[in-house]
Amino acid sequence: MAKIYEKFELYNPVRVVYKKGGLENSREISGFSNVLVICDPYVSQSEYFKKAMSKYESVFVFDKILPNPPCEMVDDIINITCDYTNGKFNFDGVIGIGGGSTLDTAKAVSSLIVSCGKLSEYIEGSKRFEKRLPLMLVPTTSGTGSEVTNVGVYTINGIKKPMTSKTFWADIALVDPVLTYSMPHRVAGTTGLDALAHAIESYWAISTQPYTEGLALRAMKMIFENFKPSLNGEEPARDEMAIAATIAGIAFSQTRTTAAHAISFPITSFYNVEHGLACALTLPSLIVWTYKHVKERMDELIQYLSLKNIDELAKKVEELIEFAGFSTRLRDYGVKEEELENIARVSMEARIIDLTPGQPKYEDVLEILKQIY
Ligand code: NAD
Repeated sequence: MAKIYEKFELYNPVRVVYKKGGLENSREISGFSNVLVICDPYVSQSEYFKKAMSKYESVFVFDKILPNPPCEMVDDIINITCDYTNGKFNFDGVIGIGGGSTLDTAKAVSSLIVSCGKLSEYIEGSKRFEKRLPLMLVPTTSGTGSEVTNVGVYTINGIKKPMTSKTFWADIALVDPVLTYSMPHRVAGTTGLDALAHAIESYWAISTQPYTEGLALRAMKMIFENFKPSLNGEEPARDEMAIAATIAGIAFSQTRTTAAHAISFPITSFYNVEHGLACALTLPSLIVWTYKHVKERMDELIQYLSLKNIDELAKKVEELIEFAGFSTRLRDYGVKEEELENIARVSMEARIIDLTPGQPKYEDVLEILKQIY
């Protein structure tokens, strides 16, 4: 029997522009003139970037982005750019160009630059952002969907923590797949797995709803079809992955993610496993675990993907992890068996875990970790 919904809502104020080669027209698209650009170093070195930036009146570039952005890095950028806002530059827009780490940094900077205090105060909830500078986000990985979410993920006291803010919805998400062509095999793999996790988790989340279900299904299909050719460097597949990652982003911007993301936080923070890969490691086991709790919904998914059963779906995800060149076993990432309990304990601290169908308890998470050990 179909699920009965009492109420659901879809709110996503981000204007999404998909344009191949769009970075070159970014000034017209954004309407900005004097910009603070937060980007990855390989972006700032590229001729493509330099040509696009030459169209602005003034450009101040910060390109020393650390992965899984630490709060202190964001505070440092504010200290540096304050000198410039105090008269030298008068930014009318912030542009983030890069992977999720860069886009999340740009979100926090665009808000903190017109507020006061340190980022940690906003993450821990003692302060809330009320405003920001105009913001355009331009992803160079096809994974996080950060360009269309109100989420930012930062490292605070050594552990990754997601936060949401109304100011983290960008004004514009410019999806230019040309920027993703330079992704090395490994980055294309980890980020593609992240997009897959978003689509699957949004689809099964307790918070799912019909509008996002359609987006999640479409994204999953596109990812299953294009993941391998995209890793082989085929540009049309990279274009499709760029679109799919943004679609999955819109889906989970409404539903949030679930256990795979919750468990990924300690795996990344303690063992330095890339975000998307850390999310994907538990997906095959979680697919089988959640099936008991959302059988009908998952049966619809199996049918949509023309698969035989749930085990085949789990296998398909495992196969993509291996195709990308990664082990599916935690022990291969330096995890010791006696550390599984601590990983489970920290995973339970992420509130999104309760959005998983069946709402896994500590013992369930530990069991899932043991299965993939
Ligand atoms: P990343 O931003 O950390 O980048 C990984 C590496 O790939 C970096 O070295 C980067 O310079 C390089 N890179 C990126 N694009 C490239 C390109 N086109 N060519 C060559 N090199 C390139 O990786 P990511 O997976 O995109 O982002 C992960 C971060 O995003 C994590 O902190 C994660 O928690 C966060 N995240 C945020 C959201 C959100 O909604 N805000 C959602 C999911 C994940």
